Amino acid sequence: MDQAQRQRVGAGNIVFREGDAPTTAFLIESGRIAVSTLQHGEECLLAELGPGALLGEMAVLDDAPRSATALALTDCVLTPVDRSQFAERLAAADPVVRALLMSQLKRYRSALARLTGEVDGLHSASESDAGAMDKIRLESELRMALENAALDVCLQPILHIEHGVVAGYEALIRWQHPERGAVSPGEFIRLAEETSLIVPVGEYVLERVCDMLAELQRRGRKPLPFIALNVSARQIEDPALVERMLAHLRSRGLPPACLEVEITESLVLDRPEIAALITCCHEAGMEVALDDFGTGYSNLGPLLSLDFDRIKLDQSFVRALDRPRGVALVKAVLAMTEALGCEMIAEGVETTDQLRMLGEMGCDYAQGWLTGRPVTLEDVLRS
Ligand code: C2E
Ligand code: MG
Ligand code: MG
Repeated sequence: MDQAQRQRVGAGNIVFREGDAPTTAFLIESGRIAVSTLQHGEECLLAELGPGALLGEMAVLDDAPRSATALALTDCVLTPVDRSQFAERLAAADPVVRALLMSQLKRYRSALARLTGEVDGLHSASESDAGAMDKIRLESELRMALENAALDVCLQPILHIEHGVVAGYEALIRWQHPERGAVSPGEFIRLAEETSLIVPVGEYVLERVCDMLAELQRRGRKPLPFIALNVSARQIEDPALVERMLAHLRSRGLPPACLEVEITESLVLDRPEIAALITCCHEAGMEVALDDFGTGYSNLGPLLSLDFDRIKLDQSFVRALDRPRGVALVKAVLAMTEALGCEMIAEGVETTDQLRMLGEMGCDYAQGWLTGRPVTLEDVLRS
């Protein structure tokens, strides 16, 4: 930082006073500062700060008047820290982290107010906190749902277009929330992915899927269909993931080929673990699909090195089949898929026209409302 911007404050001078409007915080470069407040007319020392400490950041964070007075005990050098430096970082922070910080700040201010004899009002969440509190609540409820096995796993059929048979299913998680009703995985999987909660959620889905495969086998479904499992970033970080999948399959006498792994495109970019994961899956006899192809960053780089077995074309491209550009793009992706020796699964197939066009173009599989909605295992067994 520019030396000229630094402020020198002589010993015995006030940096700011209790009740002042906050304009800036300070980083103490050298010297010592006493922070104190008046308690029933008597000065009460709150802290003595030295080099490296932040001073006056509280008022800058919540824009409330200074709640204490800062006095230079020795000659000091201070670097002013502009409010925007905090504000931008705070705005970019995880809303839960932000809510935690602001809640601590309020708690501290009210303790301070009580100390100085002021009466502090009832604390309730501000509107901006409400979203974060919702998130915290939802996450706690999700943890409970997981403990109480209140999450469902549904199966959506994947049709082999040429043979006209259901070759497999994709496992899709569902949360039947007691008050909110069905919460979409679009909402809660992202939330679970923000913390390590996705790991037990993924484990739960894996076990349920293996139980379902075992039940399909027990009921004599031949050939045994595959079930595709969506895996998230944190699960991929676990080097024992494939080993655990195999252990679950083995314990139920299931062939590894009936479990397929789906990895979403946006995850593939900067994850070196994925190459190792694919190798492990192949050695074990499991296939790996690249999910939502065309939506991530549409970077073809990973396809140079990553040996996917299937490419799942995102539903936005299937929807675009009613336009010449959409048709051209799907054809191009199909040609690329074929050239790479992969199979293509088209996602979000909703109309017979889409299915016919995809079949004519040589697409291998279709998945969507047309081939079937995600349903329970009981529904699959009945069909
Ligand atoms: P995805 O893996 O791409 O799954 C396909 C999504 O498209 C599913 O949404 C499915 O219900 C929906 N879909 C299928 N056919 C159609 C169609 O014809 N039209 C339309 N409009 N939509 C269709 P869902 O079940 O809401 O899942 C959303 C995403 O949540 C999934 O996208 C996947 O990324 C994630 N997810 C779901 N279950 C799990 C899970 O067990 N683990 C992890 N890590 N992620 C999961
Ligand atoms: Mg998927
Ligand atoms: Mg998908």
